[in-house]
Amino acid sequence: MSEVWAERIASLYDMMQRCTLCPRRCGVDRLKGESGVCGIGADAVVSSYGPHFGEESVLVGRCGSGTIFFAGCNLKCVFCQNYDISHLRRGGVVTTGELAGMMLRLAERGCHNINLVTPTHQVARIAEALSIARGMGLEVPVVYNCGGYESVDVLKLLEGFVDIYMPDIKYGDNEPGKKYSGVSDYWDRCREAVREMHRQVGDLQVSSQPIGAGQTVSLATKGLLVRHLVMPNNIARTDKVLEFLANEISKDTYVNIMSQYRPEWQASRFPELNRRITHAEYVEAFRKAEQLGLHRFAD
Ligand code: SF4
Repeated sequence: MSEVWAERIASLYDMMQRCTLCPRRCGVDRLKGESGVCGIGADAVVSSYGPHFGEESVLVGRCGSGTIFFAGCNLKCVFCQNYDISHLRRGGVVTTGELAGMMLRLAERGCHNINLVTPTHQVARIAEALSIARGMGLEVPVVYNCGGYESVDVLKLLEGFVDIYMPDIKYGDNEPGKKYSGVSDYWDRCREAVREMHRQVGDLQVSSQPIGAGQTVSLATKGLLVRHLVMPNNIARTDKVLEFLANEISKDTYVNIMSQYRPEWQASRFPELNRRITHAEYVEAFRKAEQLGLHRFAD
């Protein structure tokens, strides 16, 4: 491990002692086993790992995206689509060595990347594991697949660790973040984070790569890939999210405008959230994106 990496990993562990790994800044000593809002203490907790074929095609290629699902979450979305992992924290404790082993096994199985799902609150362990795995020959790109509520200080420490940032921008306003995810400053922190991500890695780079027998596949190698889930009644403020991307990040931002919202977890308590989106709502989101000059959309 290089000295620079070692220092950065040590800084991430320091942040766990009065936890400021995310903007909630709970201040608990996680290295002593205390836990804050995310519910995870000192150890990494993994729910599952394996090749995943349901991600964006530029991540899946032919052999799948090597996903590792981390238990717990720093957001408390009432409509969480993975509530058993994020809210109920289904998973098992793993050592950093075991986590590095998972990364290496995914790469050995041919996965085109290591896709860290909900990594924010476990990022110190992840960075250490990644450093071990890189030292043992891991070469595929690393995807930071997060909820967009990130600390810029942490992101700065990850520069060079992460190849592809994939924030799920949930809302284009603070108000719905407060009401539905339990944080008062989602949009403020998310915009800062996405700017930093883009500064580090730029727009998504996709290249054609050989996969044997004379065949090639288009794969993401580096950059920013933004997800945005359209919600009923424009609760996500999709127009604001798209305006931010087009006007303040880049019109070449690669965006996945997602239509699969369904009322999960506690969404039925909120009448305005308690339905799927209509076709018209989805078409309107796309129309807005194109109107703003965005033109790179995930399939
Ligand atoms: S990572 Fe967890 S404990 Fe740390 S500040 Fe965020 S929610 Fe709190």
